[in-house]
Amino acid sequence: MSKHGKVYLVGAGPGDPGLLTLRAARLLGDAEAVVYDRLIHPEVLKHARPRARLLFVGKEGGGESVAQEEINALLISQARLGRMVVRLKGGDPFVFGRGAEEALALEAAGIPYEVVPGVSSGVAAPAAAAIPVTHRGVSGSVTFATGHRAGKAPDWAHLAGAETLVLFMAGGRLEEATLALIAAGRSANTPAAIVEAGTWEHQRVIEAPLASIAARAREAAVGSPALLVVGEVVSLRSQLPSLSRSAPVMSEYAQFLKAEAGHE
Ligand code: SAH
Repeated sequence: MSKHGKVYLVGAGPGDPGLLTLRAARLLGDAEAVVYDRLIHPEVLKHARPRARLLFVGKEGGGESVAQEEINALLISQARLGRMVVRLKGGDPFVFGRGAEEALALEAAGIPYEVVPGVSSGVAAPAAAAIPVTHRGVSGSVTFATGHRAGKAPDWAHLAGAETLVLFMAGGRLEEATLALIAAGRSANTPAAIVEAGTWEHQRVIEAPLASIAARAREAAVGSPALLVVGEVVSLRSQLPSLSRSAPVMSEYAQFLKAEAGHE
């Protein structure tokens, strides 16, 4: 076979299809195979060409997910068929996305690949909830961390000292995370928020002091994907009511699609 395959590890942004990069949209339009998972908004897939193979690799963090090794093997085998493959990843591929694992596997297999950055939910989901992750005089640094670490507890003492803390994959262990942060010295009164499905149509935001945020999230039956934001910046929400009131960017995009459909 003369044609050589290539894999693009592409960040698809936090959800809202309007936050896809132009590069991602163009690559999707050219791809022969698109490998994606649950964090990808269905509208994003509409950028793929009609005959592209759309390969779903399952629910992340759940029992039905396809093992990482199988995803790696799929990317390699699709590329070896000479195909242009777009591997769509939620947010940015290299921010807790296991993108580097895929890059290492492609590297080892000698498959050409590129990484296309995306808008990480770590920044976009707080913004969609009217929370700037830094603010002059309030927070001069932001720490992105994960509540899950393969076989290892997060360094809570370190995380408790963060100015702004954005905790990914906190969902299942919210109680444990907040208790650990308080035990490690973070004040129980620190403003905190959970952003569920940030920038999606069904985005929800729950705000409460660190000590009670887990209970509030439980009452509200917060699901996945969700981020925990801890720090004084969370209290800026109340000073940005125009932002907190506005629906996610999505509404703009939905209107655009409607208008487009009207022209057809
Ligand atoms: N690479 C992704 C993160 C993948 S890890 C990125 O850069 O955004 C998956 C975790 O990301 C989820 O458990 C959740 O904590 C977070 N996440 C992804 N999309 C989200 C969204 N729209 N709103 C809130 N959290 C989100």
